[in-house]
Amino acid sequence: NGLPPVYNEPVWDYVKGVDDDNRANIREACQVVRNETVDIPCVINGEEIYSGNTVDQLAPSQHELTIARIHHADEAMIKRAIDGAVEARKEWELMPWEHRAAVFLRAADMLTTEYRFRALATTMIGQGKNVYQAEIDAAAEAADFFRFGVHYANEILHQQPEHHAAHVWNRLTYRALEGFVAAVPPFNFTAIGANLGACPAIMGNSVLWKPTETAALSNFTIFQILREAGIPDGVIQFVPSYGPTFGDTVAADPRLAAINFTGSTKTFDHLTQLVASRVSTYNTYPRLIGECGGKNFHWLHESADVEDTVNGTIRSAFEYQGQKCSACSRVYVPRSLWPEYKAGMIEALKELRVGQPDEFSSFMTAVIDEKSFDKISGYIEHARQSDDYEILFGGECDKSTGYFIQPTMIQTTDPKSRLMQEEIFGPVVTAYVYEDEDWESCLQTVNETSPYGLTGAVYARDRSVIDTSLRVLHHAAGNIYINAKSTGSVVGQQPFGGARRSGTNDKAGAANYLLRFTSIQSAKECL
Ligand code: GLU
Repeated sequence: NGLPPVYNEPVWDYVKGVDDDNRANIREACQVVRNETVDIPCVINGEEIYSGNTVDQLAPSQHELTIARIHHADEAMIKRAIDGAVEARKEWELMPWEHRAAVFLRAADMLTTEYRFRALATTMIGQGKNVYQAEIDAAAEAADFFRFGVHYANEILHQQPEHHAAHVWNRLTYRALEGFVAAVPPFNFTAIGANLGACPAIMGNSVLWKPTETAALSNFTIFQILREAGIPDGVIQFVPSYGPTFGDTVAADPRLAAINFTGSTKTFDHLTQLVASRVSTYNTYPRLIGECGGKNFHWLHESADVEDTVNGTIRSAFEYQGQKCSACSRVYVPRSLWPEYKAGMIEALKELRVGQPDEFSSFMTAVIDEKSFDKISGYIEHARQSDDYEILFGGECDKSTGYFIQPTMIQTTDPKSRLMQEEIFGPVVTAYVYEDEDWESCLQTVNETSPYGLTGAVYARDRSVIDTSLRVLHHAAGNIYINAKSTGSVVGQQPFGGARRSGTNDKAGAANYLLRFTSIQSAKECL
């Protein structure tokens, strides 16, 4: 079909002595972010609006540093953005597909070349990622969402009925949604901002992109790249704003066609209720696409390779301070493996360095903001106070200069305790030790204590155990990993999302996701 071949953007590894130029460049780009305070406007119909109603974006690892002043849109501006978006869509959706596709392919190329260090640095200093975590996010995954988005859209747009009666020609037209898409991404992946804010436009939609305050600078960087790549004015409106104002204003508009959300289950519930309460006022039923919370498990069988499991748990639970929806947060270990597993974990935990995002030796940095810090430290305090838990490692929290929480490992005697069931979204993992012979009932417990259903990992070498675990955990995870950690889904390889209270499971990084943003017209023509 003539598109350039699609591929996953290679991740750069910044090895000392090998990639010294890249190391110097990223350090310098981070220094620029530290030294500046960017005024981030709303961009409506191509016009940059500095409302003066500002909120600061702070560096989580050094919170006296204000890296951006975000100019919020008020209700009137959001309404103007909706009008403009609905208007802009009319041309955009009828534009030849190749022209739409080219914008995103070019944006992916720009992002991974001349803007790579900027995208990384705004993510590192702004959201507290080390360079490796920023690479897999702001460079690789963001570009993948654009390139694979175009690839899948191209496949979808060319799907046509194969059956026609005599003298009849049946065909399909993939229309954009008639209205606008409201995109509400989270702080934890710049790439999710890119995917939610931009990818509905691949299918011809127009979007209101409301970045979250704690990731505004990186999201603005991606938005600017898209503008430079040629997205027409109005197709994507960049509207930082106060969450409730944005939610109320878009939900009150009869032209709302979709809410494209990643964030907390609580907020998605609220947005769903807003839409439900007004359902008969819309021109079309708004589509709700939600990727929400998780309480992800690593389950070990006695046949597991302990070293693998320790590596997997360390990475899944503590990379990016455990602030991935997919992060491992509860572990089930058979008694026979516990001494080796526990010793391996503690040894590895001692090696984890917590520091600034632009130090190459930092494995972890600070958590995103004070609210998060207070919530996570509250859980640690709860564990300290209760007889159900023992803190095996870490537990220290210090917000004097940045929102730092040491990697923390806790053991519980109760698999139904709060720390085994509630989402913490921080560098805390809780382990429960079960008797080896009770492995099947332990699997049942994992399933029954999963109100969420996002990710999970099964570590076992015994094939029949793997088989049983997949059956019992059939609905406990939208992304299940076998002898692999629960984080790190790759676009095009492991489509990402979960059901139950984790969301609508529309699978970011797959064709399914793009299908949510088209409304198909079926045509029959008699010849
Ligand atoms: N896709 C990411 C992963 O597999 C997680 C995305 C999220 O945190 O929402 O680790």
